Order: sequence, then C-alpha cells, then structure tokens
Amino acid sequence: MRLDVLRRELAQGAETIGGLVAGVSPSEARVRPAPDAWSLLEVVCHLHDEEREDFRPRLDVVLHRGAGAYICGEETALLSSLEGYRGQPRLRPPFPAVEGLYASPTAINNVETLANVPLIIGRGVEWFSGIGREKNTGPKLYCVSGHVKRPGVYELPMEVTLRELVFDHAGGVPEGRRLKAVIPGGSSVPVLTEAHLDVILDFDSLLQAGSMLGSGGVTVMEEGTSMVWAALRLMEFFYHESCGKCTPCREGTSWLVQTMRRIVSKRGRMEDLETLTDLCQNIAGRTVCAFGDAAIAPVLSTLQHWRDEYEELIREAEADGLAGLPELILPMAGRH
Ligand code: SF4
Repeated sequence: MRLDVLRRELAQGAETIGGLVAGVSPSEARVRPAPDAWSLLEVVCHLHDEEREDFRPRLDVVLHRGAGAYICGEETALLSSLEGYRGQPRLRPPFPAVEGLYASPTAINNVETLANVPLIIGRGVEWFSGIGREKNTGPKLYCVSGHVKRPGVYELPMEVTLRELVFDHAGGVPEGRRLKAVIPGGSSVPVLTEAHLDVILDFDSLLQAGSMLGSGGVTVMEEGTSMVWAALRLMEFFYHESCGKCTPCREGTSWLVQTMRRIVSKRGRMEDLETLTDLCQNIAGRTVCAFGDAAIAPVLSTLQHWRDEYEELIREAEADGLAGLPELILPMAGRH
C-alpha cells in the first residue's frame, strides 16, 4: 500500500472511530519506536488537527512512544505500560472492554484494523466481505522479508497463496536459489517448509497447515540456511523479550537458549533433543499469556521438520570428542 494512501486511511479511520466512540476522549495510540510508524502517526494527527477542524465530535489523539518491548503488543501489558507500570500482562477477567486503561472500559485495536473501518462503513460490509474467502475476508498486509528479491509490505486479498506472495509479488529467492523455509506470520508461529508453498495465506488454511497467520510478517529462508541457527536466533529474541512474570516462560526460555547454544557450538548430546522437547512441553499452556506458547514455536517446528540438522551437529560434536562439554562461553543478552 502506498504511504499516502495509508496516511489518508489512517486519518479517516481515526475520525470514524472518533465518531463511533463519541464522548470517549482522549484516544490513545502507542507505537513501537520505528521512525516510519512514528512519523506516519504524527502526520495523522497533523491531518486531523489542521485539516479537519470542522469534524465533530472532536477526537483527541495522544501518542505514546513505546520503549520497544515485544510483550507490549499484548493488550493488558500495553495498558499497564500506558499507565506507567512495567509492561507485564494482567490476569483476565476483567477484560479491557470492561476495565481497561485507568480502570475504564477500553477498546483496543491495531492500526491495520482501524484503517479498514472507514472503508467498511463507507462502502458497506458486503463490499468488504466480498474480498478474500469465507470467514477470511478483506485485504491483509503481508510484510515479506528475508531471502527474496523484493522485500516489502504487500496488501492483498486473503486468498493469495504463499507461492504467489513469495514468487509473483516479492520476486522469489535471489539468483534462482531454492526456498527452504518460511515463517508465515511473525517469529511466534511455527516454521513451514517448501512443501507448504501452495497454502493459502488466511487464518484457517495456515492453522490447518500447522502454523498461523499471526502478524502477517512473512520471513523467507533459502537453501543453505541452518535451521538450528535460525531457531537459536529466534529463541534468543524470546529470551530477551520475556517479561519475567511467570516461571515457565522466564526460566524455560533461558534453558532453551542455553541448550540450543550448546548444540550450535558443537557440544551437544543426543539427549539434548529430548531436553528441548521436554522444556517446550513444560512451557506450553502453563503461562500467564500466549507468549510462552509463541516462544516454543521455532524450536518445536524446526525439530519437527529439520531434526536431521540438529542430529548432524551433535554427531560432529561426538566425532570431535566435544559432546557434553560445557557450551562455549558466549555472553547472554540482557532482558527487558
Ligand atoms: S508468558 Fe512470558 S511474557 Fe507472558 S506473562 Fe509469562 S513471563 Fe511474561
């Protein structure tokens, strides 16, 4: 989507929401510290303040610059952060619609959703639901990155396949190399393989394929990419972003990183693979928020599809007589 179009839609979306929630003021918008997103929202406010003075009811937009914590994408952690507390999820109920920001009823939506509101109201529900497929209607923003010729954000109906997105729109893998793996919905969803290229990129189809649409962040990896290394990089991200509120996530992500590092640094043992699975099973479903389930997705899915790569690293460690030795001393990143 072109930036000027997105700006206009956002401005109209803010106004429409203002009309829908007349009397609720101020509205709060929070952005991660990405310069483009920040300047985009500043433009929205400018448009609202300078060009639409005639609009009633008035909508005040207050921008909060986030400090970059991933967990503040979780709605209750976001509310805590806005109130000036640590960005940690709250137990629910009460849900934000009943008791949210400053204990008041609060509607929370992301900018992509808000940008669709004026279109739905202006052109009608039938027009919107005519785009895409049943139960998966409307356009979707797919952010394609990694090993593709034309990375970028593509707005497409939710009926496009992974193959069409990667090869027709993003230009395919550079220099004709083969595609090896794709994360279809941000780092918190299971990794898919080349065999999944014909999956439709909607919520239901990706769920059936064993992954999720999530944020629509599509990361492509070409042949030659070490999937164990890729899983470790993702795991280090989750270790860094765990808010620390509950033990399985706080301690489990730390143990997962240490075990993965041992394998990648060629000191792993075959029993480490069972340890990884066991750690994931003790995180799944045992945490305050969905972050715990998300954090284990890269490890479990790469173990499922590329277990041979884990075993190869461990066999090399055994051949070198290094299996089971302490991992190489690498500094662990800090945490929020
Ligand atoms: S699952 Fe992780 S991120 Fe979520 S509340 Fe627990 S420690 Fe925090």
